[in-house]
Amino acid sequence: MSKIEWQLPQNEDRHFDRMIHHNSKLHAFVDGESLCGKYGISPNYYETTDVTEEEIMKNKELACKKCLSKLNVV
Ligand SMILES: [Zn+2]
Repeated sequence: MSKIEWQLPQNEDRHFDRMIHHNSKLHAFVDGESLCGKYGISPNYYETTDVTEEEIMKNKELACKKCLSKLNVV
């Protein structure tokens, strides 16, 4: 199974500076596409996060609901 990476889609106009903006959800990316089908990875516009799945499970409100449901964790 491919590794799941949690990434924060980044707005061109904003700079997140390592903080998770409360309006932005983390999406689960596998092979460069989010599980919810909304996003493809573009290195220029995505904040790389070190968020682990464990942290996501503890803070589900940080993550995209659709991505979570694809992982069967909702
Ligand atoms: Zn998503």
